[in-house]
Amino acid sequence: MRLRNKPWASERISDHPQYVVAEPQEIKGQWNKEFGNDNPIHIEVGTGKGQFVTEMARANPDVNYIGIELYESVIVTALDRLIEAGLPNVKLLNVDAKNLTEYFASEEVSRVYLNFSDPWPKNRHEKRRLTYKDFLKLYEDVLIKGGEIHFKTDNQDLFEYSLKSFSWYGLHLNFLSLDLHKSDFEGNIMTEYEEKFSAKGQRIYRVEAQYQNQ
Ligand code: SAM
Repeated sequence: MRLRNKPWASERISDHPQYVVAEPQEIKGQWNKEFGNDNPIHIEVGTGKGQFVTEMARANPDVNYIGIELYESVIVTALDRLIEAGLPNVKLLNVDAKNLTEYFASEEVSRVYLNFSDPWPKNRHEKRRLTYKDFLKLYEDVLIKGGEIHFKTDNQDLFEYSLKSFSWYGLHLNFLSLDLHKSDFEGNIMTEYEEKFSAKGQRIYRVEAQYQNQ
């Protein structure tokens, strides 16, 4: 993701705390209260410019979505999208996912989405990959028992690495697709990266990985 310097982003974000939650650690364990309902909470880690969470929230009003994004300069575009959409069931967190357990209590999250995560191809950067075992532990700590990670990418190496990492961790792999757009999967909602890469003819890989801790 190319980062542009946007000095105004910080102020725009703090002007909209109903969308970009300012002190998410204070809401830990109370996200349902924050949304004002008991609907399940699905998070997208590395949400980028927010197309996926916004369109998922529009399509599924009975699910609460939270998009997590590290960079202000990126999340500000997701914020503009949310302001325009005016949906009550989606929020954003401008935080690093490595601190996930500071923001969510055990079993507070019903599903984790990872879409087109940064591949970090060098071995020495393995720990930064969002499917590295330490991240799988963090997701397990906040997910319901038997919770799922839904993962999509165009990057074959990252996909293969992630399948191994999921299997090593003991997750069950379901609905594995090596070419999502030519599969019979229904209701796919595209991310910005997915649109960009599939327009270039690249295939999209997808899998659902489920924790076996019921
Ligand atoms: N999911 C979007 C899509 O498919 O269009 C964006 C994909 S982009 C390649 C990956 C995004 O993940 C970047 O915006 C990056 O800043 C974010 N990201 C990477 N590591 C993260 C972390 N540890 N915590 C939060 N966001 C992270």
